[in-house]
Amino acid sequence: MNKQKSKEILDILKEIIENPKPELDFKNPYELIIAVVLSAQTTDKRVNIVTKDLFLKYPSSKDLACAEYSLVKEIISPLGLSSTKAKNIIALAQELEEKYNGIIPSDFDSLIALPGVGRKTANVVLALGFNIPAMPVDTHLYRMAVRLGYIRGDMDVVDAEIAYKKYIPKEEWTLAHHLFLLFGRYFCKALHPLCDNCKLKNYCKYKG
Ligand code: SF4
Repeated sequence: MNKQKSKEILDILKEIIENPKPELDFKNPYELIIAVVLSAQTTDKRVNIVTKDLFLKYPSSKDLACAEYSLVKEIISPLGLSSTKAKNIIALAQELEEKYNGIIPSDFDSLIALPGVGRKTANVVLALGFNIPAMPVDTHLYRMAVRLGYIRGDMDVVDAEIAYKKYIPKEEWTLAHHLFLLFGRYFCKALHPLCDNCKLKNYCKYKG
């Protein structure tokens, strides 16, 4: 990979993906961080259905911090992993109340120290919640990084994040995140990528 090649890839993605934006619904950093924690191993559409009820009942971390575990688990049960996720989001809300007076921190180290918050979630909160340049790497961004040659297949998600940041200008990190994520989700799928008419074919090491 090099910066020129990466720019060409991004330019093509900008043509393919019109109006790239997040598909998770949220109104503030509290709703965002909870929605992203809940989104593990499920779809954004499912999360949006569940969070509508969840945020109606628990509109702030103060409300969620005092929530009854069984009620939260029941509301989020359509998402799967509901026992762990319910425990995590209640613990997360409690820590936000105890340590940050309910204000979501806007620095990576504080975010990643919160219960249930990993590197990807922390980066999503920075990028979408605070407009701070960040490059969250989820399963789609990792796959795209390998297929398009940002990293080798034996490298990991942190390597992918470092590579994206190296070859993409900082002011485009968040946009690039949306573009790669949506392209991976709808075109360059894990099992059946739509390679026949793919405009990135010339850059791709995988090609179906
Ligand atoms: S050619 Fe296929 S595998 Fe390569 S980027 Fe396009 S859709 Fe993905």
